[in-house]
Amino acid sequence: MLLRLLLFCMLATVATSTLAMTLYQSTDANGAVFFSDRHTPGSQAFVIQERRVEPVRRPLLQRPRAVNPRPAYRYPLPWRGGPFRLTQGPNGSFSHTDAKSRYAMDIAMPEGTPIIAARSGTVVKTENSQIGRGNDASGNFVRVQHDDGTQGVYLHLKQGSVSVRVGQRVAVGSLLALSGNTGNSSGPHLHFVVQQSTEAGLVSIPYEFNQPVGTLPNFAAGL
Ligand SMILES: [Zn+2]
Repeated sequence: MLLRLLLFCMLATVATSTLAMTLYQSTDANGAVFFSDRHTPGSQAFVIQERRVEPVRRPLLQRPRAVNPRPAYRYPLPWRGGPFRLTQGPNGSFSHTDAKSRYAMDIAMPEGTPIIAARSGTVVKTENSQIGRGNDASGNFVRVQHDDGTQGVYLHLKQGSVSVRVGQRVAVGSLLALSGNTGNSSGPHLHFVVQQSTEAGLVSIPYEFNQPVGTLPNFAAGL
């Protein structure tokens, strides 16, 4: 008896190691279900197979899918000419510290550089008459409402150079004004910021140019 049990165990071990094993199911007169590794009349055969589980391999650099399927808009450089240099970026400690300008970028450029729309939209506000530092820190500016509700603002423009009016539709590359040095400006430059209207008022939001600033002129916009 002991020998038979040992033999059975050995057989079972062999069957398991081959990853497939046949069992026979039978039911006795009392309705109890039995399983055996030997065929008996009326029993039903089962082949038990273990599947080899392949380890799941994920690419190391796989990133989670973005929740928003629309890629973020990348702004072409809003000027003609250059290359110019970025003099203050997002969170710049000089003046990009408040909610309205936190993600603004300052690009130094000679006064009179053509400033063009970096994104299509509708002009919603302009200032064109300020001389020098004046009363408004923004100096002369053009504010364009984009179709997604954000606004692009071009600041410190040259007095009298704004060439668009409120309500006017502008396309990417449309001439808006000439750069200047008006308002709170320590030297000729463009302050370009993208803002979003919130319950707390206008706040700046992060944006990216579609090419590095300070490397190549923006030939795409035409010189
Ligand atoms: Zn600035």
